Amino acid sequence: MKIFFKSSVVAFALFTLILACQRVPLTGRKQFVGLVSNEQMITMSFAEYKGFMDTSKVVSLKAKDAEMIARVGGRIKTAVENYLIQNNYSQVIDGYQWEFKLVESKELNAWCMPGGKVCFYTGILPICKDEAGIAVVMGHEIAHAIASHGRERMSQAMAAQGITQLGAIGAGVATGNQQVMEIAGQVLGVGSQLGFVLPNSRKQESEADKLGLIFMSMAGYNPQNAVDFWQRMAEAGSKSQKPPKLLSTHPADETRIADLKAQLPQAQKYYQVYSGNKK
Ligand SMILES: [Zn+2]
Repeated sequence: MKIFFKSSVVAFALFTLILACQRVPLTGRKQFVGLVSNEQMITMSFAEYKGFMDTSKVVSLKAKDAEMIARVGGRIKTAVENYLIQNNYSQVIDGYQWEFKLVESKELNAWCMPGGKVCFYTGILPICKDEAGIAVVMGHEIAHAIASHGRERMSQAMAAQGITQLGAIGAGVATGNQQVMEIAGQVLGVGSQLGFVLPNSRKQESEADKLGLIFMSMAGYNPQNAVDFWQRMAEAGSKSQKPPKLLSTHPADETRIADLKAQLPQAQKYYQVYSGNKK
């Protein structure tokens, strides 16, 4: 009886652990996300996003650049959603309300919050150079969201502090636990959600690069543009005294560029399928 009790406790613990894990689409990497639900993450994300947009200068969609951001975003979103639905991953985008905005800011930065809220800063446009360059950044940022990197980091940070559940979410924000609020601020805070706050971030960066290459290719943008973009980014970083925001969290070092080059052939296959379908 006692043995049975012990083994059932172990089985229960294992079962909980399995529930707390999921696999990242395309890369198949197993990740621990269970301490925060997708819904909770999105609720917090939308509150953070609204706060940011309310105090930012959003460029009108009538402007050519803002229209281009929305167009590229829409193309990649459609391609990614089709892939997720066809491969039984549609739960990843449950509750998503996509938006693609351009805001006035000199910072070289862009981000996608959980729930599909994408923002580009005007400062990064000269480095993007054209539509394909925007697709590089768009693919990468959307990849962070699709790979549930925010939930993963939130769950890891909570586990590290011994917190086993998020607690109530009221009026669009997490209430109660101060520690949890601080973690959410670190993970979701505009501009910091991409930072190397936690040790796992480097792994998430290269995963976002890999997925981003494939996502842009699925939407019909040549992935070769990613190598060119990161080379321009590295150049911009070496010229400026204060490294651009995006570079402080996304080093455009030789390793990154070499990794991208190595991943090109796989991404090219998706690009060829897209091009073939268009003929
Ligand atoms: Zn990133």
